[in-house]
Amino acid sequence: MKITDVKIYPEDMPLKVPFITSKRRLDVIRDYVVEIETDSGITGFGACAPTPVITGDTVGSIIYAVEEYMKPLLIGREVNPELLPFVRDCMFHNTSPKAAVDIALYDLLSKEAGKTIYEYMGGKGEFSLKNDITISLGSPDVMIKDTENALNDGFDVLKVKLGTTPAEDKERISAIASVVGKEIPIRLDANQAWEAKDAVEICEFAQKSGMNIELVEQPVRYWDLEGLEYVTKNTSVDILADESAVSYYDVCEILKRGAADMINIKLMKCGGLLEAERIHSISSEYGIECMLGSMMEGPWSVAAAAQFAAAKGITKVDLDAPVLIKDLVNNTPVDFVGSKIKFKG
Ligand code: MG
Repeated sequence: MKITDVKIYPEDMPLKVPFITSKRRLDVIRDYVVEIETDSGITGFGACAPTPVITGDTVGSIIYAVEEYMKPLLIGREVNPELLPFVRDCMFHNTSPKAAVDIALYDLLSKEAGKTIYEYMGGKGEFSLKNDITISLGSPDVMIKDTENALNDGFDVLKVKLGTTPAEDKERISAIASVVGKEIPIRLDANQAWEAKDAVEICEFAQKSGMNIELVEQPVRYWDLEGLEYVTKNTSVDILADESAVSYYDVCEILKRGAADMINIKLMKCGGLLEAERIHSISSEYGIECMLGSMMEGPWSVAAAAQFAAAKGITKVDLDAPVLIKDLVNNTPVDFVGSKIKFKG
């Protein structure tokens, strides 16, 4: 099976409500779908979305990387597993376009074997994963309303965005604690907004709020591993590294230092399923749990992440982007319905 063409095109996906964190506001996901055509008639699908504030990848850099740089390297090549590290190593950074191509190649390899990505990666039978839903950063009143709506919609794990000042974030925590019970696991995400000492105080405040705080994500700046380690070692809450844990090598450093209790794997950060597998495997060696997250992406890449999580036995997933899309068109083998991610096969 030889590659005959590589296509990339945008798909705009308006959101039901704006997605707001301490770093950005998004009203429409601009996803880039990559199609890899082969002489066997099988087409592989992958996708990526630009998140300049986290990956550095922009609309322009994604199109250029796929169309002008990777496509000429790929045309005429045999599709086999050796092509995966070739894509990873063909250029520095550019993890989002690499992820789109990596997912499309896994799709081809899986289809050639008569399987889905989930089955190709070792998954057997059906799977169902429990998804969370994001409560965007806003005023306490708005966040209370969003929380009540999410609970009414049947979500039983919440991802709560924080990250302005410590005083305001404590108000938000108290507000949400007034409407959720102990049975709802809460994932707090500061998106790098706090100083280490403030982070410890906010984590302890959250622990005493009466809520079930499952984890606190990326309390400090992405480069501040010393701060991340300080927070992890000085609070009883589990700390999840996200923006600090971009590449396999970032994760190795975090694991060596014991700087986090968990690692958030995202295909757009690490460059696709090949690197996700390496990150998961080294984390497991250290006894560190991984969560599977995503940027604000469309269904192709999020479905690949869900299949990876299910195949590897990862139970914590933060893959609600497809749920937030208005009029979702989903041609993947995975369904995103409310709080459930299900394998269609
Ligand atoms: Mg995060």
